Amino acid sequence: MPDRDCQNQSQGLRGLPQVQRLLEAAEAQGLLARVPRPALTAALRAVLEQARAQHRSGEEALPAAPLLLARAEALLRADQAPVLRRVINATGVVLHTNLGRAPMAAQAAQAAFEAALGYANLEFDLESGRRGERTQGVEPLLCSLTGAEAAMAVNNAAAAVLLAMSGLAGGWEVVVSRGELVEIGGGFRIPDVIGQGGARLVEVGTTNRTRLADYRAAISPDTRVLLKVHQSNFRITGFTAEAGLDQLAALARERGLTLVHDLGGGALSPLAGRREPTVQDSLKAGADLVIFSGDKLMGGPQAGLLVGTRAAVEPLRRHPLLRAVRLDKMALAALEATLRLYGAGGQADASLPVLRMLNQTRVELQARAEALRSRLDELGVAARVGPSEAFAGGGAMPDERLASCAVTLLARDGDAEALARRLRRHRPAVVGRIEHGRLALDMMAVADADLPDIAAAVRASEPAA
Ligand SMILES: *Cc1c(COP(=O)(O)O)cnc(C)c1O
Repeated sequence: MPDRDCQNQSQGLRGLPQVQRLLEAAEAQGLLARVPRPALTAALRAVLEQARAQHRSGEEALPAAPLLLARAEALLRADQAPVLRRVINATGVVLHTNLGRAPMAAQAAQAAFEAALGYANLEFDLESGRRGERTQGVEPLLCSLTGAEAAMAVNNAAAAVLLAMSGLAGGWEVVVSRGELVEIGGGFRIPDVIGQGGARLVEVGTTNRTRLADYRAAISPDTRVLLKVHQSNFRITGFTAEAGLDQLAALARERGLTLVHDLGGGALSPLAGRREPTVQDSLKAGADLVIFSGDKLMGGPQAGLLVGTRAAVEPLRRHPLLRAVRLDKMALAALEATLRLYGAGGQADASLPVLRMLNQTRVELQARAEALRSRLDELGVAARVGPSEAFAGGGAMPDERLASCAVTLLARDGDAEALARRLRRHRPAVVGRIEHGRLALDMMAVADADLPDIAAAVRASEPAA
């Protein structure tokens, strides 16, 4: 195959050393002592392939053996670096699903670290010395924080919804408004989850208007659940109507049904000045079961939390799916530590990064932006500070723009995309966004401690003129 390739190429490519010759080169022997031959062979093939492509497009003279070997070594080293690594989030989206959603509180991270390093009484009752309950630590905390009778914790909210649909309505009907048949990121679609749970979806109302009477008319002897879903990542505006949770609660009680509220974001404390319902609001309005994520507005580890009446929660405890969606010890330790911060009067706002970020003032954001600009200034990089719009993300408050501040740069060669790519490749990676041909670094989800790393990344990506 390589021979046939070569026949079609210019004389110059024949000068490119072949893999075998490179492996025999003196420079390769030291490398071969450290890396397996097949790994080095594969790296050399990749490096040669790239050199051929660059030569063909007229970009580069043919590299000599030592340079090719050095490139193969760099490639092997890059392959050994962890794929999952630290990112500085300068996108302005606080709960960025692709960047890992909520950063955890130091106390939560510490608890996860300790659980990971040693043993824990994960399913062990230290009093009796017998088998215990995995979620014994978090359930009473969830109950006392929300006022619910019963609580459960599973791997994520998607799993919690699936569990609830299967456990409360498997084989029966679930009534949902057509305005709430949402798709959350990553292909989580409410109609599909209801189907996977073995329940039958009964759609009521229209995309923009659903009234209580629509639910009432749809209830049959086979109905078990009324499901209300937080629209999360979109809003329907204009000529709209929806049945309130309190109205649905009254209807569910009257007809002996379970009202489930998939709240998604799940704030445990009201966010100052923001229109986002809390878990407690849903319970007070009469939902029998409220489902929310641990790593959205709650600011903890990935988890799906279910709180509500005993009648709604207990059937789920014996469900065979539970084992498939259970939390691991690290997430459980972090979840308990996070919930304890909410319990400790006012500590949550100060200790949970998500709440701290969402409660930042313009003055703080401006000061961080100015501090970054002056660091860049010292490096000879011209940057501007300007207003920016940030978002909570994670399906919370999709239409609420948060006033923020950004540092923007013009790439020296005018290619903002290429500059953004170099910053993403840096370690730690810096992810910003491009606006009007400039790279914008939004300060909402950036910590003061990140500024030296951002400046170093920009310096490495924009060599001084
Ligand atoms: C985010 C969200 C989910 C899924 O939550 P995960 O914890 O990501 O599984 C489910 N329902 C709603 C309404 C959401 O906003």
